[in-house]
Amino acid sequence: MSVSVALFTADLRIHDNPVLRAALDGADEVVPLFVLDQGVRAAGFDVPNRRAFLADSLADLDAALRERGGRLVVRSGDVAEETCAVAAGCGARQVHVAGDVSGYAQVREERLRRRLASDGRELYVHDTVVTALPPGEVTPQGRDHFAVFTPYFRRWAAVRHRPVLEPPRRVRVPEGTGSAALPSRSEVSGVSPGLARGGESVGRARFESWRKGPMKAYADRHDDLPADATSRLSPHLHFGTLSPVELVRRARRTGGAGADAFVRQLAWRDFHHQVLAARPHASWEDYRARGDRWRHDEDEIAAWREGRTGYPLVDAAMRQLLHEGWMHNRARLLTASFLTKTLYTDWRVGARHFLGLLVDGDVANNQLNWQWVAGTGNDTRPNRVLNPLTQARRFDPDGDYVRRWVPELAGVEGASVHRPWKLPSRERARLDYPGPLVDLAEGADRFLRARGR
Ligand code: FAD
Repeated sequence: MSVSVALFTADLRIHDNPVLRAALDGADEVVPLFVLDQGVRAAGFDVPNRRAFLADSLADLDAALRERGGRLVVRSGDVAEETCAVAAGCGARQVHVAGDVSGYAQVREERLRRRLASDGRELYVHDTVVTALPPGEVTPQGRDHFAVFTPYFRRWAAVRHRPVLEPPRRVRVPEGTGSAALPSRSEVSGVSPGLARGGESVGRARFESWRKGPMKAYADRHDDLPADATSRLSPHLHFGTLSPVELVRRARRTGGAGADAFVRQLAWRDFHHQVLAARPHASWEDYRARGDRWRHDEDEIAAWREGRTGYPLVDAAMRQLLHEGWMHNRARLLTASFLTKTLYTDWRVGARHFLGLLVDGDVANNQLNWQWVAGTGNDTRPNRVLNPLTQARRFDPDGDYVRRWVPELAGVEGASVHRPWKLPSRERARLDYPGPLVDLAEGADRFLRARGR
């Protein structure tokens, strides 16, 4: 009997999974393995919201494998050590894993390759698992990556993506392969109260209802904050409970302006991955240094984190993050601009806070989006400052998003909720809500002067 190991990482699914497919095709029996990586904890990436979503996703993956005669084998510790021990225990000659671009994943892959090779075993790394297009697949002439999205997207959109793989009918796991208990969401403390549930089944159901309904209006409504009209599939893409290739292909087959706009956003995800693959240091260092001498005011930072800046749209967004472990993209853009430009605070402060809460938080998308907003990344307009009042007029014109997330302002009607300082003094005095933390024009001026504008 030949045996191989399918090492699950950011691909917690049985549908369209090249890692699982290759492991099954290459052997009679397969060990579907997940290692609860203690290194992730040490690196500070093991945060409650993602740990809870991971627990849901592993339970769902285990159930799907059991339906096919298999089960998930879980170990805890160092990924290279544990994988080698499992491979040795079941006599597997091959281990299959998804390629990933973060510095952490690259080091893990290299250690795993070396440890397996020293035991006479082979590591197979599969692409088009974590991203729809592998980093480096399309490049501009003479350069290792695209620094601007539009030309990247033109090339990305012209590529023919591989066919979607069917889930396996049967999975045979060698007897006697021991497993630790699956982690459970109920064991995780400090989870945001409104955190979404994880798992491939939930993700597939969400994609189906999205594809058949709201996706049609996505091109027009994706920035409408109260409508909440985006897919909310980002945590599923982060954990790989949904396949990006499958989403691209099925959205395209559905067709229409909404599908086109949705596919374009999926390309943004790949874009940031290819930047990070080529510039791993961009995870914490400026991609394009602008000579910033950032300010650091702990009180201001605390007010931003807790949603007490006195700018209702900013505060609503920051409270959504605390409550759901997720935030709308328009709100991410605004809150990041407010921190890095209006308050002129280092983007790393904000990126760290987001990574501590976001259920979809990942190095490529979070860090490079932060850099994009801060003007140290790939934005072609690096000194643009988003004004919360203008953003409110455009994306929350009646104030419904603010009233949803800032209960102190729930009784203020219409658009006046965006300027509580302008309310009649008696009404203003009744509100337990702070005044503006900074003057918007002064903040913007300070930033532009610092950037030499
Ligand atoms: P939809 O609008 O439905 O888009 C579909 C998918 O496209 C998303 O699920 C996501 O995978 C991808 N996508 C959309 N916009 C972007 C983008 N700008 N960059 C990369 N991929 C995108 N996204 C993350 O997945 N993880 C993060 O840690 C993250 N941090 C961010 C931090 C900041 C400061 C900003 C401005 C954006 C960040 N984003 C991040 C990108 C984006 O905000 C989220 O992907 C999006 O809000 C997720 O919601 P959705 O699934 O409803 O998106």
